[in-house]
Amino acid sequence: MRTKLNQYLSSLWQNSWLLLFSILLQTIIVVQFTYISKGGTSIDASLIQILIVGLKAFTRSVAWAVLFWGIIAYFGSKKEHSVFKPIYTILLYLFLFFQSFLFLGESFLLARYQTVYSHEIISILTGTNPREANEFFQNVISDSSILWSFLVYIFILLISLIYRKWSNRRDFSTSILWKGFVLLSLIPFLLTLCYSTPRTYKKVLSASHTHDYSVAPFDRVFWNTFGYIHDYNKKKEAAEAMASLDLGDLKVVKPFKGLNLVVIIGETLRRDYLHCYGYPLNTTPKLDSLLLGGNLVKFNNVVSSAPNTIGSLTKVLTFKTFDGAKKWYEYPSLCSTFSKAGYWEQWTSNQESTGEFIQDINILAVQADETDFVNDRSIDAEHNEHLTYFDEDVLPALKTDDEVLANHREKKNLLQIVHLIGSHPIYKKRFPKSYAKFKAQDVPIHRSAHKDQMVADYVNSVYYNDYVVSEIIKHYEKEEAIVIYFSDHGEVIYDDPRNPELCDHGMTKEALRVPFFVYISPTMQSQAPMLLERMKALQDRPIMTDAFTRSLAELVGIQTKFSNPQVEFFSEQYDESRPRVIENFSQKVVFTQDDNLLRTK
Ligand SMILES: [Zn+2]
Repeated sequence: MRTKLNQYLSSLWQNSWLLLFSILLQTIIVVQFTYISKGGTSIDASLIQILIVGLKAFTRSVAWAVLFWGIIAYFGSKKEHSVFKPIYTILLYLFLFFQSFLFLGESFLLARYQTVYSHEIISILTGTNPREANEFFQNVISDSSILWSFLVYIFILLISLIYRKWSNRRDFSTSILWKGFVLLSLIPFLLTLCYSTPRTYKKVLSASHTHDYSVAPFDRVFWNTFGYIHDYNKKKEAAEAMASLDLGDLKVVKPFKGLNLVVIIGETLRRDYLHCYGYPLNTTPKLDSLLLGGNLVKFNNVVSSAPNTIGSLTKVLTFKTFDGAKKWYEYPSLCSTFSKAGYWEQWTSNQESTGEFIQDINILAVQADETDFVNDRSIDAEHNEHLTYFDEDVLPALKTDDEVLANHREKKNLLQIVHLIGSHPIYKKRFPKSYAKFKAQDVPIHRSAHKDQMVADYVNSVYYNDYVVSEIIKHYEKEEAIVIYFSDHGEVIYDDPRNPELCDHGMTKEALRVPFFVYISPTMQSQAPMLLERMKALQDRPIMTDAFTRSLAELVGIQTKFSNPQVEFFSEQYDESRPRVIENFSQKVVFTQDDNLLRTK
């Protein structure tokens, strides 16, 4: 027993250069990342707060180094044994390779993108995002910052090897000092194992990744990969459970064939910033001319059921309404219902494919027959100002009924859902330079230089959105098509009297009023002669988008156990006095029939 312990202590001594090597490399990354991100704290955080974050990350880095060192040294202590020798050698080289690769990879990411290993990087590495993968690897090769990282790496390797030579010439492994050091090294290891690890595990289970700045490089690799797989499985399971929910006796009473039903979901677009709804600047030249053409109908009294994407779309895209008693995922979705009614569903999105703010929507997205994230990325990409993904990227991915139904003869119609990033903050990331038409001096109300620029950016995103939406409509003008466009919610733009500094999602009238359009193509009009007139007759109806799935089903004649014409806003029997109540955290507001907001809480 005693000799075994001594052998282990001696092996720990001989392999202690690995500990040095790993701690040095990880510490360089920790210091760099803490410096660049200020430890993820706010700009005016004190130096002490930033140092604490860095210290936590350092402790966890040491813990990982101790773990690998302990394991490798264990096999090293038995290397006289013919079985253990190759295991020792393999583990040693694997560790050296992995540690080196991690250091070089993350220092490149930090230098080039101010980021570290995250979901985007996984999607690039796993090849789910080939367009970016190309760019990424070209950058790796051409960037001079990788040369600097490499020089630092060589320097650390040299120090570690010199130390190795020195330590192999002496043996302090039996000294009391060495025994004390080994015991001491267990402290960061046990602290991390017992205190931090359970917390990180919990966080990754709920948010599917850790963007915590106090973790070590190895934590990021381990937890973010684990979270990525966990998230994928969770979404798949939830989607399957929703798809099997009971719809009752499903009937299709209007047998369309070859219909292109297109639902464009906009983002953060408040109604009053559209020229066609009265904004003084010409933000919607293309929609304006489509309205003049007469095939597009503009609804004038539509509100969202929540001031944020999840709250709004989990109702829009399921049978859940604001007064529904159950959770949204206990109601069948738009996709699963239309699938059972003979529609082929194509989901085309320019939003994120992972991340805690969007995960629920993606549970709905993966219920479509085909889901295409045209710019596959996680929410982390939003933190980076240099990464822009424009909505026009959805255009080449749009499908028509002829393209998909030839291969899916069991289906009769197409449901194309388009999910845009629209005017979501950060506004200036939402339009290409060529659409920067409006300047700060053009905005109708002047507040301050900074605020006017922010408004101008928002206005330009509306102007660009006009182009994207009208291009999508154009794509279907020769088809038998119904195209519906609305936004998930609006936005507060320095006009909440309770908080004049607020420029974000919120609970004001304009942050909840949304634009809503229905386009009926000429071919569709000849198929259903009364449809366009009916839409025009309904355009002033008070509507809340929570009843969208029900209403769309009614419009195309799909009947289920959820059918209730009083809630279905395209129906003859729609109840125009249906309450429009919006609750968000502690606030509650009601929209009156004449489109005004009453604040009740
Ligand atoms: Zn939204």
